[in-house]
Amino acid sequence: MSPADNEIRIRGLAIGARPRTDWTLDEVKALFELPLFDLLYAAQWVHRQHFDPNAVQCSTLLSIKTGACPEDCAYCPQSIRFDTGIETHDLMPLDEVRKAAERAKAAGATRFCMGASYRGPKDRQLEPILEMVREVKAIGLETCVTLGLLREGQAERLAEAGLDYYNHNLDTSEAFYPKIITTRTFADRLETLRRVRAAGIKVCCGGILGLGESREDRISLLHVLATLDPHPESVPINRLVRIPGTPLENATELDSFEFVRTIAAARVLMPASHVRLSAGRTEFSEEMQALCLLAGANSMFYGEKLLTTANPSTADDDALFARLGLVRESAPVRDESRSAVAT
Ligand code: SF4
Repeated sequence: MSPADNEIRIRGLAIGARPRTDWTLDEVKALFELPLFDLLYAAQWVHRQHFDPNAVQCSTLLSIKTGACPEDCAYCPQSIRFDTGIETHDLMPLDEVRKAAERAKAAGATRFCMGASYRGPKDRQLEPILEMVREVKAIGLETCVTLGLLREGQAERLAEAGLDYYNHNLDTSEAFYPKIITTRTFADRLETLRRVRAAGIKVCCGGILGLGESREDRISLLHVLATLDPHPESVPINRLVRIPGTPLENATELDSFEFVRTIAAARVLMPASHVRLSAGRTEFSEEMQALCLLAGANSMFYGEKLLTTANPSTADDDALFARLGLVRESAPVRDESRSAVAT
């Protein structure tokens, strides 16, 4: 029996190491609602079947075009509809992107993610971004972009430029989606994910917790992610950063243990994916970050800024890694979706 065939049983639930995409909603619910320590045990067990438990993949994120976005995502300061006072800028020059990527590599990141605040790029807007992908690849970093909805043929052009990952979050459940975004649909998002996958690009797809969604919504979001075939290679789990001027500025803070529970369930449901601790980390204590990593998160953004919100300093992250005995995962040498340990 290979390690991938290993299985444990917790309170009658069979938990296996092999990724599967046929999870039922009831199974996801039963897993999610385990006593927290049982769920943490399951997550640690699954995590150790596929990954070095002390290695964390580090990505750096750069906003290559900020603000003036026509979409109305209720959590986002970049929407043109909300007065949030952020500094906007058009597409960054190639030279600045290259320098930022070189700094990220020198600091130890293995992946460079570039975000642009489009509903979706027009073909002429995609052109300079293809050049950025080529330049960042040439530096020796994995590349990821997040550009919104993709039109027919655009994913193929990104693939030809050498793009490794496309980030496109589902954000929340299909039922709760219209309460958060009205300018596009959940089905639109799934269609772009389909195009990305069909072009042979790896998928980075997760959600945001604390939008005012219910536990049922969190379970439903995880169910959709865990039944994508194949699973997203990267699953960012964000906690809402409440930005003044956005409709969610006064949202009720999500219970920390509920956040940890969601991370642990994502780890069990998508055993070979990198689960990324994303936005919201500045509001977590070091103990909370450690608990999230223990629950199976094994990826984080490294660098002082996310698209527009703050992130812990690299010095703070380095100090936390040293105290916990963690190491940064080195760049993968083979397809991580099938690799047992990528260190
Ligand atoms: S999340 Fe993206 S698509 Fe939505 S408003 Fe912000 S930049 Fe635009």
